[in-house]
Amino acid sequence: CGIVAAASSRNIVPLLLEGLRRLEYRGYDSCGIATVGPDGLRRCRSTERVAQLAEEAKEAGLNAVTGIAHTRWATHGAPAVRNAHPLFSHDFIGLVHNGIIENYESIRARLQNQGYEFTSQTDTEVIAHLIYSNYQGDLLAAVKKSVLELRGSYALAIICRDEPHKIVLARQGSPLVVGIGDNEMLGASDAMAIAGVTDRIMYLAEGDVCEITPHKCQVWKRTESGEFLPVEREIRVV
Ligand code: GLU
Repeated sequence: CGIVAAASSRNIVPLLLEGLRRLEYRGYDSCGIATVGPDGLRRCRSTERVAQLAEEAKEAGLNAVTGIAHTRWATHGAPAVRNAHPLFSHDFIGLVHNGIIENYESIRARLQNQGYEFTSQTDTEVIAHLIYSNYQGDLLAAVKKSVLELRGSYALAIICRDEPHKIVLARQGSPLVVGIGDNEMLGASDAMAIAGVTDRIMYLAEGDVCEITPHKCQVWKRTESGEFLPVEREIRVV
């Protein structure tokens, strides 16, 4: 339902939680937050309100410069903590997803045959395992390869244990924007979520894949033939 992501040089946990609060009015059945840092991937998830998630994040001592957060409206899999996003693959890939993956059953069957274990009933978990299966030292390349296989709609924000200062974003059929901050880059399903942080917004187009680090934002557009070409998207002040 809602996505917030941030790559910064300060602790982004408060920023992500504030972003979720700003998305609460849209409704949700569960919420979650994940960070990546020297201690790897960490997450808190809850079927309660964002305020409760914030308490859990505080108790867990969640603190990192890179992270992703989500409010979920379940489409596949009951509202439950195990189905809440962020979803992980092998504690290595972490992601949040808005939308519906129409061909998730065939991808899941194939990955299960290869030995992948699924811990949720969501359509989203196949994306995490698919990216893991395509990972060869470069998250961006793994995401580009993976999205070519997905049918349906998605806005995605993805983090990787071995690339802790980076977030890869991708969209098709679900909205996703990039916020250009001071020494930090944000991602969000709605500019409202990050309005307190920056007013400089870049709207990603259908099929775009984007990589953000605290000081850089690069976008690639997907061509008809499934190639990705570098592209500049306009930055607007909203
Ligand atoms: N289809 C995903 C799920 O059910 C994402 C739902 C959403 O957009 O919040 O987990």
